[in-house]
Amino acid sequence: MSFFNKSQNEDLSEQWRKKYLNLFDAQNKIEHAHHQKEKLLRQFSIQLSILAEGHDRNLDPILLHVREYLKREVEIEELNIALKTFMESVKNLPHKKEKLKADLLFDFLVREYPDAAQQAALLELQKLVNSDETTIEQATDLFIEILKITHPAPPEPEIKLAGEEESVDEVLYTPPIFVDVRVVTEQLQEYLSALVIPEAFQAQMTGIKEALLHPEQSPQAFEELLNEVVNLLINIKEFGEAEQKDIDQFLLHIAAQLSELNVMVTQTTDMANTSVKTRNKLDQSVFTQIRELQVQAIKTTSLDSLKDMVNECFKTIATEIKNHHQQDKELQQNFQDRMAELINKMISLEVETETLKAELKVVHAQNLHDTLTGLFNRNAYNKRLKDEIARYKRYLSPLTLAIWDIDHFKSINDTFGHKAGDRVLALTAKQLQEHTRDTDFIARFGGEEFVMLLPNTTKDAGLFLAEQLRELIQTTGFNSNGQAVPVTISCGLTELLDDDTEDSFFERADKALYEAKHNGRNQCVVQ
Ligand code: GH3
Ligand code: MG
Ligand code: MG
Repeated sequence: MSFFNKSQNEDLSEQWRKKYLNLFDAQNKIEHAHHQKEKLLRQFSIQLSILAEGHDRNLDPILLHVREYLKREVEIEELNIALKTFMESVKNLPHKKEKLKADLLFDFLVREYPDAAQQAALLELQKLVNSDETTIEQATDLFIEILKITHPAPPEPEIKLAGEEESVDEVLYTPPIFVDVRVVTEQLQEYLSALVIPEAFQAQMTGIKEALLHPEQSPQAFEELLNEVVNLLINIKEFGEAEQKDIDQFLLHIAAQLSELNVMVTQTTDMANTSVKTRNKLDQSVFTQIRELQVQAIKTTSLDSLKDMVNECFKTIATEIKNHHQQDKELQQNFQDRMAELINKMISLEVETETLKAELKVVHAQNLHDTLTGLFNRNAYNKRLKDEIARYKRYLSPLTLAIWDIDHFKSINDTFGHKAGDRVLALTAKQLQEHTRDTDFIARFGGEEFVMLLPNTTKDAGLFLAEQLRELIQTTGFNSNGQAVPVTISCGLTELLDDDTEDSFFERADKALYEAKHNGRNQCVVQ
C-alpha cells in the first residue's frame, strides 16, 4: 500500500522535473555569463599583452606565448602555468633605475659622433648607464664620461686617409633627426642644472638655459643649440684642465720660494748659533784665565809680579772681550741684515702670490679657446707669440711661424652647407693638431685660418713639416653624405729675425701665404 496515488505521484515527479529544469537553466545561465566574462577577460588580457609589448624585450616572447594561450582557449591550468611564468619573469626583470634617462641624449650623441669607435664607446656607456650595476648616477659624472669619449685626451687619431678602410663618409654623415625636442630639452635642463659652472661660463650657460626654455622646433636650430651645449661642456672641461695646470705651476713656484726662504732661515739660525758659541768660548777663556790667576796668586810671593800677572791677564781678557764684541757686532749686523732680507722676501712673496692670483683670474676671464675646433684662439696666439719671442731672445733658438688657410672654403660652404663646412674645419684642425709635436702651438686664427708657432724649428724644417701636413689634408677623404668634399690647404711660413716685431713676423708669413694662394693654392711657401 502506498500513501500516494498514481496521479499524485505524477504531480510530484513533474514538480521535481520542473525544479530540476529550472536549476539546470539557472546553472546554464551562470555558466553562460561566466563564459562571457571569461571571453571578455581573455580579450582584455590579449589587449593588455599587446599594449605591454615593447616595454621590455625580455618579456615580449612570454607575452606572445600567453596571448597564444588566451586565444586558443586552453585549459585554465595551462593558462595558469603560462601566467605564472609571466609573473616570475616580471619579478626577475632587471630593476630599472629611474635617475638617468639618457637614451635620447645618447641617440643624439651617436648621431653627432658617427665615428665607429666613439659610437661603440657611447653605446657601451649607454648600456652601463641603463644597467643595474651602474656607478654613474649623477648627471655631472655622465657628462664627464661622455666627454671622455667625444673629446678624449690625448686624442686618438681616428680620421683615416682616403683609401683606408674607414671612410670619412661616416664622419660627415648626418642621418635624419627623430628626436623629440621637448623631451631632450627637459632632459638637458635637468642635466645642466646639476652641473657646477665656473663663473667665466655663467653668462653663456644662462643663454643656453633660456634657449632651452623656449626651444625652436626646427631640427637645425635645435641641433645648433645642442652643439652649443656640447661645446660649452668641452670648454668647461678644458678650462678646468688649464686651471689645474696653472695651479700646479703656481704651487711649484711657491714651493721654490719656500725652499729659498728655508735656506735663509737656516743660515740665520746658524749665525745665531755661531754668536752663542763664540760667547761661550769667551766665557770659557775668561774663566780659565781667572782660575790661572788664582793659582798663580796662591803660589807667588812678590806683590809686583802678582800685579804684573793681574795686569797681563786683564789685558788679555780685555782684548778678548773687545774682539768678541767686534765679532758679535758683525754677526749681529749680519744677522739683522739677513732678517731684514728674509722679511722683505716674505713680503714680496706675499705680493707675488696676490699678483699671480690676480693674473690667474685675468687669464681665465679671457677665453683662450675656440669652441668649434677646440684649438687655442687668436687671443691665445697673441699671448704665446710674446712668450716665444722672449724665449727666442733668451736662447736664440729658431722660431718659425706658419699660417694656414683652407682653399676655396667659401665654395665648400656653398656646395655642402655651412654645417659640413664646420665639420671640415673641426676635422682639419684635428688633423693638424694630431700630426704636430706637443711643443708646437696651434691656434684657429679666425674663419678658416690657422696659425702654428714652431719653436726650435728653422724655416726649412718648418717647410718639411708643413708639406707633410698639406699632403695629409689633401689625402684625407672628407665626405658629406656620401659625396666627396675636396679639401686642400695653403701655407705661408717664415722664421723670426732679430729685428722682427710681432707684426712684421706675421706679415711676412701672411705674404708667403698670399703667394701660395696666388701660385695656385694647395702649396706651402717660405719667405
Ligand atoms: P681662398 O682659397 O682664397 O682662401 O678662398 P676661400 O673661399 O677659402 O676664402 P674666402 O675668404 O673668400 O672665404 C672664407 C669663407 O669661410 C667665408 C666664410 O663664410 C667661411 N667661414 C668663416 N668662418 C667659418 C665657420 O666658422 N664655419 C663655416 N662653415 N664657414 C666659415
Ligand atoms: Mg681666409
Ligand atoms: Mg680660404
